[in-house]
Amino acid sequence: MKKETECVHPLIDQRRKESGVTVPINTAVAYEFAANENLKYPGFLTTPNQERLGMIVARLEGAQYGIAFSSGMSAITSSLLAMIKAGDHVIFAKEIYGGTMKFAEEELIQRGVSCSFAKSKLNDLELCRQKNTRAIFIESPSNPLLNIWDLKAISAWAKAQGLVTIIDNTFATPVNQQPLDLGIDIVVHSGTKYLSGHNDLMFGAMATNNEAYYQDILALAKIYGGALDTASCYMAERSIKTLRLRVNQQNDSANRIAHFLEEHPKVKQVYYPGLISHSNHAIAARQMSGFGGMVSFEIAQTAGTIDHFLQRLNIIQHAISLGGVESLISVPSLTSHVGLKPAHRQELGINDGLLRLSVGIENTDDLLEDLNTALGA
Ligand code: PLP
Repeated sequence: MKKETECVHPLIDQRRKESGVTVPINTAVAYEFAANENLKYPGFLTTPNQERLGMIVARLEGAQYGIAFSSGMSAITSSLLAMIKAGDHVIFAKEIYGGTMKFAEEELIQRGVSCSFAKSKLNDLELCRQKNTRAIFIESPSNPLLNIWDLKAISAWAKAQGLVTIIDNTFATPVNQQPLDLGIDIVVHSGTKYLSGHNDLMFGAMATNNEAYYQDILALAKIYGGALDTASCYMAERSIKTLRLRVNQQNDSANRIAHFLEEHPKVKQVYYPGLISHSNHAIAARQMSGFGGMVSFEIAQTAGTIDHFLQRLNIIQHAISLGGVESLISVPSLTSHVGLKPAHRQELGINDGLLRLSVGIENTDDLLEDLNTALGA
């Protein structure tokens, strides 16, 4: 089944014969007790809508098992915590979502888990590896500089060392990248972004083909309370029906916008994996079927330039978050990475003049005109 069909019909099952074309929302928080059966309870993430959404994300990621969570952070923390114990060591990519970085630097450390941070090459992982290393956590493309990891190479290396690999696939989406096919063990998502796609719904998800990992993560999610309410499960399922359509449009638009920005005299640097100038374009072309809807760039900076540029935008909104139908632009040093120390941001290359554009599904010419007008001013 092709992706666009899979998004609309992720689970062709018996239930649709009974419930109609769309699924009902099971509002019950109490279910009849049945001995020897899995207990249905929202807090256990086992009600019909919750299980369905988990299965849908699993299907999209080519996985056997999936869990829907109340947020991306809940999916990330539950998945990671289920893989490690005090005394273990985790290698994180240096460039990850600010919240994940805070979790590593402030939470895990306090709980007796040590962490190292690797730049973007297999060799960096090798240098970070310790005797007690248990897991690797990466993003590809990364937030916000859209760095690319070679997923096949690192998963093969990690397997040989007995390490668990986890990838945050939020930026790529399962439409553009299938990490499990490339050997990664666990995929996590901030469903709040592309999967929900309308800037109006928060959820998270994880998918894996390893049953033991799935059971461990589910057990932990129950304890930490990461359950998603059933109405939101339905909304997520509804949103996913148009995922492929939205992402295809976003891929095309972002690609044109990245090329336009690269040519613009007022733009200093553009980060987009679809550009030949991107340092890992060849790897991205090999492992992604589309380069995504995120474009980061730096404009030539004189005092006040960024503020003027943002104020001059008319269609593109200055707002945090990403992946929705509305084009949004943000300044990572003030938003997703504001929690990092300035020296840490600088080391990563997240300069104060960096802008992160999440391309929506508006007409591409309108977006180009909006950017051109704002840059020209
Ligand atoms: N992962 C990435 C790449 C993100 O951009 C975000 C949020 O911006 C998260 C995870 C956290 O997700 P949530 O806000 O749904 O908890």
